[in-house]
Amino acid sequence: MFYFRTMPRTLQAPVTVAFDYTRSTGPVIGRFLTGLRDGVIVAGRTSDGEVVVPPLEYDPVTHAATTDFIEVAPVGTVTSWTWVPEPVKDQPFDRPFAFALVTLDGATKPFFHAVDVASPDEISTGMRVQVRWAAERTGAITDIEAFEPVAERDEVVDGAGGPDRARPQPRDEAATEQSRSGESEGAVTRVVTPVSLDYLYAASPEESAFYRGLNEGRILGQRCPTCQKVYVPPRSACPADGTPTAEEVEVSQTGTITTFCIVNVPFLGQKIVPPYVSAYVLLDGADIAVLHLILGIPADEVRMGMRVKAVWKPREEWTYSLENIDHFEPTGDPDADYDTYRHHL
Ligand SMILES: [Zn+2]
Repeated sequence: MFYFRTMPRTLQAPVTVAFDYTRSTGPVIGRFLTGLRDGVIVAGRTSDGEVVVPPLEYDPVTHAATTDFIEVAPVGTVTSWTWVPEPVKDQPFDRPFAFALVTLDGATKPFFHAVDVASPDEISTGMRVQVRWAAERTGAITDIEAFEPVAERDEVVDGAGGPDRARPQPRDEAATEQSRSGESEGAVTRVVTPVSLDYLYAASPEESAFYRGLNEGRILGQRCPTCQKVYVPPRSACPADGTPTAEEVEVSQTGTITTFCIVNVPFLGQKIVPPYVSAYVLLDGADIAVLHLILGIPADEVRMGMRVKAVWKPREEWTYSLENIDHFEPTGDPDADYDTYRHHL
């Protein structure tokens, strides 16, 4: 009798690719962001009289650089909205909220931001909303924490010409004055935008066997039945002749450096202080080299042909990853003869 296997045939793992994107704002967006930091909303006027938030860098009709900036109110009217029932990472809130187009008083074009209400019943087109400033402002769009409904009594006071309670006052009046005169000190000229992509990597059946091998302290490849080459990690088919590979081969944990690079440049998330060496290691019994870290020797003494061996992390740290091998280090044996690896450069 056959049973369905409960063990999944292939492995999968969540992967995140992330980097911080730093860019200069330019004078127009910089002015807008500086305004947010100082608690005011800066719009730009176009040649056909539209008042746009954020200001456009160039006029859409004449293509001239925008030079006419005006301050608009932190109060406006919802012109369109959508409900976000299940926010994803890095959205304005981790609870349900609305995204809306809000036309601020003094502007003619709507501005996109979040509205903090508890349910879709609490937002409607035509509703009056006001900016809720973030507790700490840095010169970013997140300086506006969200819009929130304007309390009716505030609108009445506003309409009666009383104190403008619907318009939260900037925290720093001096900074605001500077902004209005266009001479804001320490203007925002650069922003750092984290960029991040989460995805699920699904390993092929052959790769899954490779990663399961690593979890047992073994390095597994597959041999092509046509050209006899051994691929590590295994491909589903030979890249040279297209033949499907099936025969599993355990390769040696010792190999030869075929080529390498000395990393001198520091970067975000780097685990080792430069200089250090990344090298292609052709494991004995394999026909393709794997890229790994070389330690246990000064970077300037690493050379092609050097014999190295895998150094594994403590067993309790093993997962299903090539990182189970912490690094490679020299075996101390004489260098390999050039002819043994010349086809793998
Ligand atoms: Zn082949």
